[in-house]
Amino acid sequence: PVVTRFAPSPTGYLHIGGARTALFNWLYARGRGGRFLLRIEDTDRARSTPEATAAILKGLEWLGLDWDGEPVSQFARAGRHAEVARQMLAAGTAYRCYTTAEEIAAWREANPNRVFQSPWRDADPATQPDAPYAIRLRAPREGVTVIHDAVQGDVTFRNDQLDDMILLRSDGTPTYMHAVVVDDHDMGVTHIIRGDDHLTNAARQAQVYAANGWDMPVFAHIPLIHGTDGKKLSKRHGAVGLHEFAAMGYPAAAMRNYLARLGWSHGDDELFDDAQAQAWFDLDAIGKAPARLDFKKLEHVSGHHIAAMSDAALLDELARFLAETGQPPLTAVQAARLGSALGALKAKARTLPALLEQARFALIERPVDADDKAAASLDPVSRRILGELTAALQHVNWSRDDLEAAAQRTAEAHGLGLGKIAAPLRAALAGRSSTPSVFDMMLALGRQETLSRLSDVAG
Ligand code: GLU
Repeated sequence: PVVTRFAPSPTGYLHIGGARTALFNWLYARGRGGRFLLRIEDTDRARSTPEATAAILKGLEWLGLDWDGEPVSQFARAGRHAEVARQMLAAGTAYRCYTTAEEIAAWREANPNRVFQSPWRDADPATQPDAPYAIRLRAPREGVTVIHDAVQGDVTFRNDQLDDMILLRSDGTPTYMHAVVVDDHDMGVTHIIRGDDHLTNAARQAQVYAANGWDMPVFAHIPLIHGTDGKKLSKRHGAVGLHEFAAMGYPAAAMRNYLARLGWSHGDDELFDDAQAQAWFDLDAIGKAPARLDFKKLEHVSGHHIAAMSDAALLDELARFLAETGQPPLTAVQAARLGSALGALKAKARTLPALLEQARFALIERPVDADDKAAASLDPVSRRILGELTAALQHVNWSRDDLEAAAQRTAEAHGLGLGKIAAPLRAALAGRSSTPSVFDMMLALGRQETLSRLSDVAG
């Protein structure tokens, strides 16, 4: 069975690149009935914070990536990492190295560009001092280490370019590189999908797998995300945290769709749902070139998902957006009016705030506060016509056809076209000159609220 994992270091928030890595691992596992695990790489005590861990979990939850089991803390497994290092020592696949950090630094100074080889590798055990020692991997000196990467192809590293990496430091703490291998092995991880900045690490990690006789996972090192200018994505490009995209009002389903397409493709399919993504996702269709973050594409994908969402799902997504951006939740009345308006609104909005802007008429209370442009359309003649329309609407059937017919009759009685009374109607109902169709608004507001808003301004 397939087991994947996401292994973030909790030093900040969930980066958009990390979110995509998590998504790829999630898609791969979910599409194969496998398991998707989470490991928090919190061994760097100075940089790891509980707040950062919480932010990452929150980001994954927001994105809708559910993981199996409890998140594993790498730091909590330090004892196990030490145990494996000592087993390797006993098996002879690792050795005690007494060289101090100062000695290594001095050696490096004197031997730039050379790979450090510990003099203790082949030392007679009888000569070993009673001093603190690090445990180093007894790595092969000759030959090559080849990573058969599912994305990068075969990548070859010369063993004489890799030093005997430290597994356990002289203070008894494991190195990150050793911890990763032990954890991935113990967690039964079969596929490691991660950023290609870890490709060189894979060579060292493969040596630890080999030394222990453990099954090698499949590696898939994916190119990092770039900005529109082709440079590695950074703060300069604007948003890089997943929470920033959430605050911009892209629905989570749209982010899943868009991020899945960032570096992976399925023919020309641009728009898809989770079931399709899970069925289609595979490692061989991940590109070797870095994908570029493209906000225009993201908006397009976002608009598609907003239009495709059920009203209930969209209301949930809006509620999450309001909470995420620190805005008050919708009242029951607002939610009900908004619910009736969504059908007409969702086809046009590309983001949640754009949708809310169009839905403003459904969220405001009487008396409607009109902006200058809208207020200007409420001249005395228009107010009188609105008064007549109010009377005409008292008893009509509250359907689009009947509303339209009534408005048409009222306009014609004054020798005007429907278009002429649209502006004052928008002003009365929404306080704006740019709004959804007046009949969509009337239908969403209902008879009572519509007539009240019209009476408020009728002359
Ligand atoms: N903790 C590493 C990172 O955040 C990931 C290591 C891995 O996936 O093996 O970059």
